Amino acid sequence: MGPAVAPEPCVFCEIVARRAPSHVVYEDEENLAFLDIFPFTRGHLLVVPKRHVDRLIDLRPPEFGSFLGAVVQACRHVERLSRDYNVGLNQGPLAGQIVFHLHFHIIPRYDDGNPFGQTPRTRLDDPTAAAIVHDLRGPAGR
Ligand code: 5GP
Ligand code: ZN
Repeated sequence: MGPAVAPEPCVFCEIVARRAPSHVVYEDEENLAFLDIFPFTRGHLLVVPKRHVDRLIDLRPPEFGSFLGAVVQACRHVERLSRDYNVGLNQGPLAGQIVFHLHFHIIPRYDDGNPFGQTPRTRLDDPTAAAIVHDLRGPAGR
């Protein structure tokens, strides 16, 4: 089943379609994980289903396993940086959702005494992102 058409231009659909750039860390047939462009911490990832849905409850039951499997695979990559991380979903504007294409955040945590920290966020530049992707994917680029 291919991706559904988003009701209006959707930045994550553009990334999935490779019409917009991103730094991909994990991909399978139905899901994509890429670096958040304004990361809370080094290695902050977003995991999306390729089919456009806004809300978790819009996923179809056959998609549950696939999507959770992609979250697990993305966590495996994050564990190359830190065994400590937050996995989260902001659902709805009052919860801070700003991109209305379902995505889980995986936010590595480091020993900075700031476990839920809203650290200042600066836009990732390409060389920094490439170095982070290299570390997340490991020496063999897996
Ligand atoms: P939300 O608040 O909707 O859960 O989070 C959306 C996330 O998407 C934010 O952390 C934001 O930095 C990230 N984001 C927004 N636009 C882009 C983009 O064009 N590329 C990437 N890689 N991340 C984006
Ligand atoms: Zn979308």
